[in-house]
Amino acid sequence: MGKTEIKLVNENGLRVDGRKLDELRPIKLEVGVLDKADGSAYIEHGKNRIMAAVYGPREAHPKHVALADRAVIKCRYHMAPFSVEERKSPAPSRRELELSKVIREALETSVMSELYPRTSIDIFIEVLQSDGGSRCAGITAASLALADAGLPLKEIVAACAVCKIDGKVALDASDIEDKQGDADLPVAFMPKSGMITLLQMDGSLSESEFNQALDMAIAACKKINEMQVEALKRKYISVKEQAEERYEPREGAA
Ligand code: ADP
Repeated sequence: MGKTEIKLVNENGLRVDGRKLDELRPIKLEVGVLDKADGSAYIEHGKNRIMAAVYGPREAHPKHVALADRAVIKCRYHMAPFSVEERKSPAPSRRELELSKVIREALETSVMSELYPRTSIDIFIEVLQSDGGSRCAGITAASLALADAGLPLKEIVAACAVCKIDGKVALDASDIEDKQGDADLPVAFMPKSGMITLLQMDGSLSESEFNQALDMAIAACKKINEMQVEALKRKYISVKEQAEERYEPREGAA
């Protein structure tokens, strides 16, 4: 049972939103949604609504932050004041600073930054509405935005959290499960190399629960990765169709 009287898993093994323990929330991904950024992506993961944008590689500013052997990667995770029930201060909180750091580390491994010495790659994650697991949804979107910016990536990074609710390990915690559950384990994963690029744990899990949770998270990241690849393909098919329309010779033209 969680920390409150609300039952998070009913007698049929279903959760507050009707999901099974190993079921993901609905995910919608869109790539190239912003014209002005070099790369962008939008994710709806459950009720999370998150925009990710990437600039770069561009000249590092201020110059002293530049690295001689690779690009410097910066990341800002930010929650809009209207993203939570009570207005949140727009100033960056300790939590946002910490998440910016761990998200940067989760994505950094995937970027071939050695190809762009002395430059800077800037990642912006703007949470418009949050619903638990926003750091994971932010990573999933930001990795797509990096790909959309045309940056060479070793792999696309997908992320998902697993929680423990009413004594049971469950995939992809929603806000209420995140707040009232007993544990939360956000994971970011690169499926081809099998590399885990983010692993955090809040609360406590036994060794067998931890192993079960990690297996669940990895299986979910593999599924999310397939959705990411499909979203990228959709973007390039639509770019190709628009280009074909633009250059199709008009009837009667020489
Ligand atoms: P994550 O979003 O990655 O799960 P946390 O576990 O820190 O990160 O947060 C869980 C959820 O708590 C968030 O998704 C959000 O819905 C909510 N939350 C976070 N910060 C605030 C805040 N300042 N005010 C209200 N709700 C918040």
